[in-house]
Amino acid sequence: MDSSLGVYVHIPFCTRVCPYCDFAVEAVASRGSKAGDWRASEDLYVAGVLAELALRAPTFRGRSLASLYFGGGTPSLLRPDSLARIREAVEAAFSPGSEKVEVTLEVNPSSVEREHLPGFRTEAGVTRLSLGVQSFDDSLLKALGRAHTGDACRRTLAAAREAGFANLSLDLMFAALHQTPAMLEADLAEALAFGPEHISCYELVFEAPTPFGRAAAAGRMNPYPEEGSARMVERIEERLVASGYRRYELTNYARPGYEAVHNRRYWQRRTVLGLGVGAHSTDPASPGRPHGARHANPRVRQSWMDAIGAGHWPIGEEEILDRGVAMAEACFLSLRCEEGLDEAAFRAEFGVSPRAEFGAAIDGFLDGGLLEASGDGRLKLSRSGRMLADTVCAEFV
Ligand code: SF4
Repeated sequence: MDSSLGVYVHIPFCTRVCPYCDFAVEAVASRGSKAGDWRASEDLYVAGVLAELALRAPTFRGRSLASLYFGGGTPSLLRPDSLARIREAVEAAFSPGSEKVEVTLEVNPSSVEREHLPGFRTEAGVTRLSLGVQSFDDSLLKALGRAHTGDACRRTLAAAREAGFANLSLDLMFAALHQTPAMLEADLAEALAFGPEHISCYELVFEAPTPFGRAAAAGRMNPYPEEGSARMVERIEERLVASGYRRYELTNYARPGYEAVHNRRYWQRRTVLGLGVGAHSTDPASPGRPHGARHANPRVRQSWMDAIGAGHWPIGEEEILDRGVAMAEACFLSLRCEEGLDEAAFRAEFGVSPRAEFGAAIDGFLDGGLLEASGDGRLKLSRSGRMLADTVCAEFV
């Protein structure tokens, strides 16, 4: 029985909202231009996170802390002492397990963040930085509406190493707007030259409620051609694997030993307590909820603050998982990962084998070469299955 816990803290502030972003975010003036206003927002928000932690910790009592993840938004807009207050409170509520707790901070490349990098490590106790590079190409960054430049990425990466961070992750975007294969090659080469421990590669998605999504719906923007995007996925895998990274999850590559502890919890369906605006939690199994539940906090800061201020846990959405949903998720989330689906573990959890439950889909994919059965009782995506992973995973839903 897993008694560990991951804590996710959502910080919704960004210096501007990118036109493709569908996260719970809001634009705030940069620290330099309206320092007083920003400081008040930051302090109020941190107080809200601490109050929510106090309200919700009893549900997760007794669990040992495995990971703490500051995501957003742009959590690196917070001062190191603000992050330190949250980390200390989380560690006081849940004692660390035997392994060292992974503390990740998402960072955007800018001079404000660079200044704070030493403090993020020494004062806030951050052990891992996730840098939202996206691309080193200024024309692409501009078209994506990002606030930073390629040069800011280079300087932030160098500053992160100088500040003593030994575990760096880079986010890169592909199949984005006017990006060509040559531009992707250049981004991969430049990322590899920095030697990060971890690289995440995401395709640009046109989410309906965003400006890009609306432009795509109106025919003013076009998603990347499928074939071109598939070739990029193939090329990313070839290049990163040849450089010593393992594709341990469909969009994530790591040097051995640097797989993201926190992110893995989601694919492994382990318990996560989400704090802050729009944060998602996966609650453990409990009487009457044998497969656990999922919760999402409200996405509007004021609604979240009002509920916290009144001493209520601000539930935005709740889903109590039934057996069917839990089985489907166990299949497709495992298949996303290098280890694949452990048939014996599935049987132990649900009392039935995955082939008994999803026989037609599994047999079809085995026959079609999209799935492979390994000698150790696992089902894994084949190379062609990884190219069509969305299609395969959708069959289990
Ligand atoms: S910086 Fe990241 S979180 Fe903020 S608006 Fe842009 S994509 Fe969204």
